[in-house]
Amino acid sequence: MSAPKTDVVIIGAGVAGFAAALAARRQGASVEIVSAHAGATSLSGGAWDVCSDLYGSVDEVIRPLRTLAEEIETRAYEDEYHPYARLGEACLRTIEEAHALVLPALAIYRPLDLHSKGVLVGSDLGLLRRTATAQKAVLDLSAAGTFDTTVGANIPTALTTAVVSLVGDRSTDADFLAASWTELMSLTRKSRTFVPVALDFFRRKDDALLHPHEVAAIGDSEDGIASIANALKNALQKGRFSSVLVPPMLGHRRDDVPGLVEDLVGIPVGEWLQPLAGPQGLRLSRRIDEVLASEGCVHTRGAVSELELGTSGIEVRFIDGSTRRPGAVVMATGKHVGGGLAMRDGDLVEPLAGLPIYIDGRLQPLGSSPEGRDPALLFGNDPFSGGPGFRAGVGYDNSMRALGRRGEAASQQLFVAGALLEGFEPSRDGTGLGCCATTGYVAGKNAASFAGRS
Ligand SMILES: Cc1cc2nc3c(=O)[nH]c(=O)nc-3n(C[C@H](O)[C@H](O)[C@H](O)COP(=O)(O)OP(=O)(O)OC[C@H]3O[C@@H](n4cnc5c(N)ncnc54)[C@H](O)[C@@H]3O)c2cc1C
Repeated sequence: MSAPKTDVVIIGAGVAGFAAALAARRQGASVEIVSAHAGATSLSGGAWDVCSDLYGSVDEVIRPLRTLAEEIETRAYEDEYHPYARLGEACLRTIEEAHALVLPALAIYRPLDLHSKGVLVGSDLGLLRRTATAQKAVLDLSAAGTFDTTVGANIPTALTTAVVSLVGDRSTDADFLAASWTELMSLTRKSRTFVPVALDFFRRKDDALLHPHEVAAIGDSEDGIASIANALKNALQKGRFSSVLVPPMLGHRRDDVPGLVEDLVGIPVGEWLQPLAGPQGLRLSRRIDEVLASEGCVHTRGAVSELELGTSGIEVRFIDGSTRRPGAVVMATGKHVGGGLAMRDGDLVEPLAGLPIYIDGRLQPLGSSPEGRDPALLFGNDPFSGGPGFRAGVGYDNSMRALGRRGEAASQQLFVAGALLEGFEPSRDGTGLGCCATTGYVAGKNAASFAGRS
């Protein structure tokens, strides 16, 4: 007897593939999700952007004028090729629906409120940054403080945040971070001061050589939680602090560490942001894997080598020679980090189905020489201005079906989502994980309904 046919195969288990899997499962579809290796999702930090201005002035970051909903509406209006613009009038509602599904399932993020101005976080570069929501382990600087209860209102008193470095760990410069954040706050006449505090925490000779995720894992045991809290309480005796910023060290495999440490210390304790293969991205990847398993998705670790788009359906071919013929496919293979786009002979290509590459609603023109394109034309030479190669991707229609060369659906069964989409610049446009979750949600829902009909 042959195995029952899977309704939806999702290629890619980053945030976009995850949201697609969850949405398809909630429609009652059977789901197989495939991942070959880590993608951008595991490199992201503890911030979850939905529509952040990554290049705004300090004043705009600390005292934003607009709500997230207003930012999204402006983005959709100003950038007609961004996925938010393509979602049309349903954009805000769809973002809310997607996040109402994805964030509670992940359970490590604060809920998203599009009518708020998001959260304010400190980054490991000594900068301050506004983001839509953040991991519960990350300190929200716009909320954390002591409050003077004697006057019967939430009036912040002397806001002094301790910035913790671990004695022996040379990767953190708490003096620099504290000075930088204090200066940024003072530019907007906000009365928050950051004070460096050294934490004598390591117990063994080699502890200072631990990788960041190994340091975070110390908090995964009851003893670890107690030793973090005790070390913090000792260090904080030297001053009066309203909150504490620590490196990402509040648990690697356990999600209750931030709350437990905070209860023991008695004031808000949270991490600063650390992207690039730190504990925060690994936490997100771990939760994705755990939720996929608990939702009953089959998670296959392996690489897809090719998608054959035939008239009788799509065949998914794996590198080990096995194949699948599902009811529908969602490609969520990421962009330059995930592997969804690749450079071949000097040109950008989509390597699995050979889908054409679009840039701002138009087919990528042919290469300018037999060797292909000058990379500077695609990616620029200036790290701050980028180039069209960052917005390039697979074209898609309103149902999130991938486009062929003439702007038609490449296959009725093939849906796309996440960083792979054209018009979306996940590393630079401030809509990162939120846009991936939203487009993944739409693609997964539509793929499941199509598979149900087919
Ligand atoms: C360093 C860094 C920091 C970032 N920080 C933030 C942040 O703070 N906030 C924010 O909102 N966004 C951030 N972003 C952006 C955000 O991480 C990405 O937009 C998002 O993770 C992309 O998700 P995705 O699911 O589309 O792709 P990816 O996460 O890249 O996932 C691609 C998936 O496709 C799979 N795949 C690819 N090819 C194949 C194949 N042939 N066979 C099988 N599987 C395949 C990969 O294994 C992977 O599972 C950051 C990005 C980076 C790189």
